[in-house]
Amino acid sequence: MDAAIYPFDTTRRAFALPLRLVVLGATGSIGTQTLDLVRRHPQQMQVTGVAVAGRWRELAALLADLPADAAPPLVAVADPAAHAAAAAAGVFGPRLLPSVVDLVEAAVADVVVNGLVGAAGLAPTLSAAARGLRIALANKESLVMGGDLVRAAVQRGGAELLPVDSEHSAIAQCLAGRSRQDVARLVLTASGGPFRETPAADLAAVTLADVLAHPTWSMGPKITVDSATLMNKGLEVIEARHLFGLADDRIDVVVHPGSWVHSCVEFVDGAVLAQMGQPDMRLPLLYAITGERRWPLDGPRLDLLRLGTLRFEAPDLERFPCLRLAREAGRAGGAAPVVLNAANEVAVASLLAGKLRYIDLAPVIARCLEDLQPAAPRELPDVLAVDAQARQHCDAIVSRGLK
Ligand code: NAD
Ligand code: MG
Repeated sequence: MDAAIYPFDTTRRAFALPLRLVVLGATGSIGTQTLDLVRRHPQQMQVTGVAVAGRWRELAALLADLPADAAPPLVAVADPAAHAAAAAAGVFGPRLLPSVVDLVEAAVADVVVNGLVGAAGLAPTLSAAARGLRIALANKESLVMGGDLVRAAVQRGGAELLPVDSEHSAIAQCLAGRSRQDVARLVLTASGGPFRETPAADLAAVTLADVLAHPTWSMGPKITVDSATLMNKGLEVIEARHLFGLADDRIDVVVHPGSWVHSCVEFVDGAVLAQMGQPDMRLPLLYAITGERRWPLDGPRLDLLRLGTLRFEAPDLERFPCLRLAREAGRAGGAAPVVLNAANEVAVASLLAGKLRYIDLAPVIARCLEDLQPAAPRELPDVLAVDAQARQHCDAIVSRGLK
């Protein structure tokens, strides 16, 4: 893995305004923040397609709030039962589609904002890449599972993939105008999550409410759990490797409570640039959607005098073994990141359903990685087959327990 997906050195495309957006995961944390940006820039952005898993009534209410002069967007409702219910209710009329990939292929679009959660994001990322669209990518699982496939599809399709994840956006903002040869290393910052200061002995007793109480960001449930285990940072290291084409040993992780420094780039001359700001995902979203332009955005501003000092700590791999598991899977490559991602999704869903304790997440994922070592997947069907096999295996481990 050495080529980058991120378009170093190239001029970003200039689309005519309004930008035509397809918003995948429109009812989620990323999706609703994207719709908020559209409401704030009614002359500059227009929604031409939206996709959700199941919450179609909520989606209909969100669409009713959008600027009214544009044509109503195409709608994909991916969950079959929800799709049938939405079709029977007739709210979206002939604009209703059953699959996210159908939507990405059919919509009139300049930009696809991929705010889907989990493995479901990969196929739509590949479709958007094949169409040569600008992709504002929040769905990091796309790159963890299929980074090489995404890079090939972006190259073939002539697409422009720009990161939304705040750390990777921060790096992109520091890289503006630089080439890959200028970069010595990346420093990804992590808030440390709700258990940054929790002694190892107390982690067995944490509740789901404790896990979901993220100190700095308000996000969907899956990434909130991933932030509490630091799996999120491990997934982000793999995401950064694919995006920026750098080896694992040139990517550091530093815990930075407060999340003011969103990440840093160290250049070959020793200069370190950091991007700072209030934790607000709308900024990295807007930066990616606009093709890395700076449009005005209201919101709380960073006050350095109120901050006073910035703290940085090394991550504790003993208390947060998911970060170590993810780095090892990333270094191993092949099928390992796919198994890691699938096992993590199943383990997190089990935790959210009350079937698994917080401290059992890492051992369950580690067991899946030990038990399954399939051949390196080459094409999308191979990746999806490994994903399905790992989900089934992890489900079985959760059901019978680790013994
Ligand atoms: P979320 O759970 O709030 O929203 C997920 C959205 O995806 C929902 O609209 C849901 O309907 C839709 N969805 C889920 N499964 C689907 C499927 N199979 N088919 C179609 N639609 C489906 O999640 P989120 O917090 O917005 O996160 C989305 C992605 O962005 C994740 O990959 C996450 O890691 C990444 N991300 C999120 C944040 C954040 O602040 N929320 C920050 C950085 C990165
Ligand atoms: Mg992030």
